[in-house]
Amino acid sequence: MTDPLSASHEAAGAREDAQVAGLLNWLSGAAILFLSGIGTKAWFAGHTLHAWVLWIFAVLVGLTIVQFSLTRNQPRQKASLIVIAALLFMYLVASGGESNTGPLWFYVFPPLLFFLTDLKTGTAVLLMCCLVAAIVFEFPQLPFVGAHYSYDFKIRFFATLAFESIFCFILEAGRLKARNELVELAATHEHAARTDELTGLSNRRDMQQRLAEEFSRYQRSGHHFSVVLIDLDLFKKINDVFGHDAGDSVLRQFSGVLSEVVRKTDSGARWGGEEFLLLLPNTSLLQALTLAERLRQRVASTSFVFRNQTLPVTLSAGVCSIANSATLADLLKQVDLHLYNAKQAGRNRIAPRVRQSEDGMTTST
Ligand code: GH3
Ligand code: MG
Ligand code: MG
Repeated sequence: MTDPLSASHEAAGAREDAQVAGLLNWLSGAAILFLSGIGTKAWFAGHTLHAWVLWIFAVLVGLTIVQFSLTRNQPRQKASLIVIAALLFMYLVASGGESNTGPLWFYVFPPLLFFLTDLKTGTAVLLMCCLVAAIVFEFPQLPFVGAHYSYDFKIRFFATLAFESIFCFILEAGRLKARNELVELAATHEHAARTDELTGLSNRRDMQQRLAEEFSRYQRSGHHFSVVLIDLDLFKKINDVFGHDAGDSVLRQFSGVLSEVVRKTDSGARWGGEEFLLLLPNTSLLQALTLAERLRQRVASTSFVFRNQTLPVTLSAGVCSIANSATLADLLKQVDLHLYNAKQAGRNRIAPRVRQSEDGMTTST
């Protein structure tokens, strides 16, 4: 039987992905504007090579937007942006940018990195980039290094960067923890809202939603389904004779039997009081009647015990297929009528009854 566990984890993930996609596009757009603008400024200042490099980076960022719109692959877009940003910041540190102000852009990197990736990867990439920056600072004679920084600048650069990175790390770790706790809490609440507390089965609300979903699937693709409405017989008497706790225990024990008898694809819910509803996807009326009969026999032959007392438990059930109903409301009305007939006919039985006729199996009330 399907567990009424919520999909709120997935829903939160999908919502977050959509938010991040929007933010990434916005961020990439802003980066393209900045890079093109600063590149143009460098061009007019006569720094042709610097201008070209910045424009190439702008094009690369643009390509990540195109890549994402074609593939919808967000992890790849993030990875591409990290690589581009790392290369850009390395270039700015090595070249000095304009008037040796290039390393200032490095401060954008830690928050961006922790936004784009997890804490572990972010820290690793950051440390790697710092190592490259340290090499650039230490060996200005290297061929790709065009900038010279003072000793004071280098010390202050690393000290402030370390402070910023640690701060970003702590903030991001706190944000992630709070976010995970919220998602966990939402999932717990959602689960509680869909579950019957006494039996652990789906509750009526959840079953109504499942019925609506199954009905639209039936309308879309014509997949038949059936429902079984079960009512425990003379339950009031069990309460009256053995006590309310005994009644509660029977409801729990019955739910256990129910879960054992139905298939994984079926859903069972406590419809109310001592009534239960089964939703059987891809199941004909005759198959549903067979399952209901199997359940009836199983319950009739099971010993329901409460405080060493054996309790008399049987069930009556109505069965109906969507093939015989025009709407969901009609289906529920008919199955209720069949249950009523089963009760009227003497209880501990299923309605409609299956009869063997000359042209096969037929049903009658
Ligand atoms: P019938 O065979 O016609 O269904 O008779 P019945 O006694 O089962 O039907 P009735 O509707 O008269 O009584 C249902 C009883 O189920 C009454 C109510 O107190 C009891 N009941 C409903 N919910 C619970 C519950 O959560 N725990 C317990 N112990 N009893 C419950
Ligand atoms: Mg009842
Ligand atoms: Mg009853």
